[in-house]
Amino acid sequence: MEIKNVRKLIIIGSGPAGYTAAIYAARGNLNPLVLTGSELGGQLTTTIEVENFPGFPEGMKGPALMINMQKQAERFGAEIKFETVTKVDFNASPKKIWVNDIEYQTQAVIIATGARSRTLELPREKELWGRGVHTCATCDGFFYKGKTVAVIGGGDSAMEESGFLANLADKVYIIHRKESFRASKIMQERTLNNKKIEVLWNSEVTAYRGEQKLNGLKIKNIKTGEEKELAIDAVFFAIGHLPNTEVFKNEITLDDKAGFIVAKDTVYTNVAGVFAAGDCVDFTYRQAITAAGFGCMAEIAAERWLQTHNI
Ligand code: NDP
Repeated sequence: MEIKNVRKLIIIGSGPAGYTAAIYAARGNLNPLVLTGSELGGQLTTTIEVENFPGFPEGMKGPALMINMQKQAERFGAEIKFETVTKVDFNASPKKIWVNDIEYQTQAVIIATGARSRTLELPREKELWGRGVHTCATCDGFFYKGKTVAVIGGGDSAMEESGFLANLADKVYIIHRKESFRASKIMQERTLNNKKIEVLWNSEVTAYRGEQKLNGLKIKNIKTGEEKELAIDAVFFAIGHLPNTEVFKNEITLDDKAGFIVAKDTVYTNVAGVFAAGDCVDFTYRQAITAAGFGCMAEIAAERWLQTHNI
């Protein structure tokens, strides 16, 4: 077991919340350590075009935006390690964080672990994972050039994923359980005007078809009860997210619905010196810009907490 020197602040997660906290902490001379998690840069690295992050009038590619945030944090001295936290003890003093056999000790912690894609959890999903069942069109859409694919969901992600896939595939179905989208108007319009996209309203997937590889879906119309088979080469989920908070479940209060961190005054967890920011807390706004804002708030709160405790 290797034990590292006690830190003032460790930030867990490397999305907009984590990196913003790191930029502020590094500029505040706290020498923060960022433990990035397995998805370096977080969910935006699987986003295609980010058009609503202020400061980029022409839009910005998600991965490039995250590399810029990382560089900005490093420029001021944040230490960034591509490691995934496996265990924590927030009741200890100093607090302890493990990455397998390495033990880190720290006075304060900011949790910014984000969220991940929700899936349908139908039988054989794991078997077909990556073999026609996917969550990220940017990552895997290329394999379906000239093919027929489906996207499940009715939010902005479904609009974005289907638009991206329509540039590659011959035909894109959107399968949505309601008869209207919740996506923003501008994204809905783009989707509905795209001739390659057909929407199957009031529909849900009830089974996957295909042996080694997905080759179709069984679909049920929720209103009429009618069932049909849809021949497709791939399906992409765009049905929301679950917070990455399992490792904290015995240490801080999580909500009993999906496990989002319960925070008071936006960034304070129930444990003194442990703060939280971004999509692991926020199931309402879930934007890169709000996550960045929460990251800033969490760092200011952590800095003040350290000062108050003369650390
Ligand atoms: P949302 O939560 O907004 O939408 C999820 C969609 O999936 C909903 O239409 C929901 O249906 C459907 N759904 C949820 N569970 C199931 C299920 N079990 N079976 C079938 N359908 C299901 O998630 P998004 O990922 O789309 O967006 C998250 C946030 O990120 C939003 O705030 C969005 O605006 C933002 N975003 C912005 C983008 C951009 O601006 N470039 C791109 C992508 C996301 P129902 O409507 O019936 O509840």
